Amino acid sequence: MSIFIGGAWAYANGSLHLGHISSLLPGDILARYYRLKGEQVLYVSGSDCNGTPITIRARQEGVAPHIITDRYHQEFLECFSKLGFSYDCYTRTDTEHHHKLVQEIFLELLEKGHIYRKEIEQTYCEECAQFLPERYVEGICPVCKEPSRGDQCDHCSTILEPLELLNSKCKICGNPPTTRFTEHFYFALSSFQAQLENYVQKAENNKLWRENAVSLTKRYLKEGLQDRAVSRDLPIGVSVPVAGYEEKKIYVWIEAVSGYYTASKLWAKEADKDDSSFWNVSAKSNYIHGKDNIPFHSIIWPGILAGLGKEPLPTHIVSNEYLTLEKKKLSTSRNWAVWVPDILERYEPDSIRYFLTINAPESRDADFSWKEFIYSHNSELLGAYGNLVNRTLKFIMKAFDGVIPDKVVSSVLQDKVVTLYKDTCRLIEEASFKQGLEKVFELVRFSNKYFDEQQPWKQIYENVESCKQTLADCVYLIANLAHILTPFLPFSSQKVKDFLHISETNWKPFLVKPIVLSNVEPLFKRIDPARIEKELETLNKQTV
Ligand SMILES: [Zn+2]
Ligand SMILES: [Zn+2]
Repeated sequence: MSIFIGGAWAYANGSLHLGHISSLLPGDILARYYRLKGEQVLYVSGSDCNGTPITIRARQEGVAPHIITDRYHQEFLECFSKLGFSYDCYTRTDTEHHHKLVQEIFLELLEKGHIYRKEIEQTYCEECAQFLPERYVEGICPVCKEPSRGDQCDHCSTILEPLELLNSKCKICGNPPTTRFTEHFYFALSSFQAQLENYVQKAENNKLWRENAVSLTKRYLKEGLQDRAVSRDLPIGVSVPVAGYEEKKIYVWIEAVSGYYTASKLWAKEADKDDSSFWNVSAKSNYIHGKDNIPFHSIIWPGILAGLGKEPLPTHIVSNEYLTLEKKKLSTSRNWAVWVPDILERYEPDSIRYFLTINAPESRDADFSWKEFIYSHNSELLGAYGNLVNRTLKFIMKAFDGVIPDKVVSSVLQDKVVTLYKDTCRLIEEASFKQGLEKVFELVRFSNKYFDEQQPWKQIYENVESCKQTLADCVYLIANLAHILTPFLPFSSQKVKDFLHISETNWKPFLVKPIVLSNVEPLFKRIDPARIEKELETLNKQTV
C-alpha cells in the first residue's frame, strides 16, 4: 500500500520549540513503522518561508528575507536530523519548483471556475501605508469576545476575516485601520459544502481522524463554509500568475498546504521516482500537525484537492492538542519555551522522543516539566529498558564469553511477543502512539520481572542449562522489544541491533542467532537529578 505522510510546515522565522516537535513526532513514528511493515512510504514536509512575520523580522534586522529563512531552514534541518526525523523530502516554500507548481494549481482552479475575482473592502493602515495582512490586525473576536488576530481566534479557533474583528488595531503601529477597495481572487469553498460534509462523516464513522479534528470541522460545516480570499498584497510569496495581478501574492491557504503536493513532486524529480501511487484513491494520506492547524487540513486542503480532482483527500488526520511547559502555556514572545537546538545540546534524542510520546497531548493538553522529563528518563528508559538490556548482555559477556546461549524460546514468551506486535501495529495505525509505547513498556517490565524471578545469578551455580535458557529468553525479548521500539526510539534500537547483530527489517517476531555479542555498552546514561533545578533556573531567567 502507498502511505503518504505530510508533516506540518514549520515557519522559518524562529527556532523550533518542544511544542512543535510534540505535534510533528507522530509523523516520523508512522513513517518508520510503515517502512518496517514493507509499505511504500513518502514522508514530506518543509520550512514555510513566505509570509509577513518573515518580512517584518527581516526589516527589524535590516536584512533580506532570505537571510532569515536560510538561517532557520538550516537550523530546522539540523534539529530534525538530530531527532531522527526520517523525511523522504524536506524542502522549503521559497524554491522555484514550489512557486511554479503552486501557480499551476492556482491556474487550474481558476480555469475550472473554483477561483473567481471580486472587488473587496480590505483593512488598510494609513499610518503604515499598506494593506494589512490578517495576522496584523488585532482586536476582539466577534464569536467569543476574547482578544484575537484577524485570521483566526486562538481562543475559540474560529476562522476570521480582519473586518469581522471588533475594536481592531494595526499590530505594527497600534492605530485603528481604515479600509480601501482592492480586487482579489476568491476560492469558492462554499461550493464544496455537501462534498466535504460526506467526506467528514465518512472519516468520523471510520474513526480515521482525531476527535478534535472531527468536532472542529463539523462545527465549521454547520456554520456553513464561506468563500475565502486567496490573494494578498504582500511583499514576498508566490505571485498570482495572471496578467495585471503579478504584484499580488497567492495566500498561504492555497500556497502553504499545496506544499505537500509540490514536495511530493520534488521528491519524485530528485529521486527519479514516480509519485502517482501516493495521489491515488487507494493511498492512505496522513496529515500530522497541532490542533491550531486543523481547518487547513480538514477543510481547505480537501477543498483544493476536490477542486483539482485529486485523490486522496486527507484520509488520516493526526492533530495533537497542545503541550504546556511547567503547567503554563508555551509562549515564544515571552520566551517561555524549551528550544530544540538547546535541549539537543544536553540530552539524547531518544529521551526527548520517549517523553514526548509517553506524554503526548493526543486527546488533551499534556505537560512538559523538567522534573518529569528527567525522572522518566532515569526510571523508565534507563531504569527499566536500559537496565534489562545491560544486565542481560553483561551477564552473557561475563558468564559465557559473550556467546548468546542457543536455546529454544518457550511458546509462552513467543506468544507474548506475537501479541505485542499485533497490539502495537493496531495502536500505531490508530494513531494511539502513547498507548502503543505503554504496551511495549509493559513487556519491558514483564521481562525485568522474569529476569528477577529466574535468578540467573543463582541458576548458573545450580543448573547452568536453565541459566542459559533464561538468558536466551531475555535476549529474545530484548531483540524484539528493540525492533518494535524502532519507530519510537530509533537511536537506542539501532544500538541494541548492533550488539546483537540483528538485521531484521520486517514487522514480525524473529529469533536471535547464537552469535558473539560485540561492543556492548550501557544504552542510556543516568541524568543527575540536580539538573532539574538548573534547567528551571535557566528557564525562569530567560523568560521576559
Ligand atoms: Zn473567539
Ligand atoms: Zn499601522
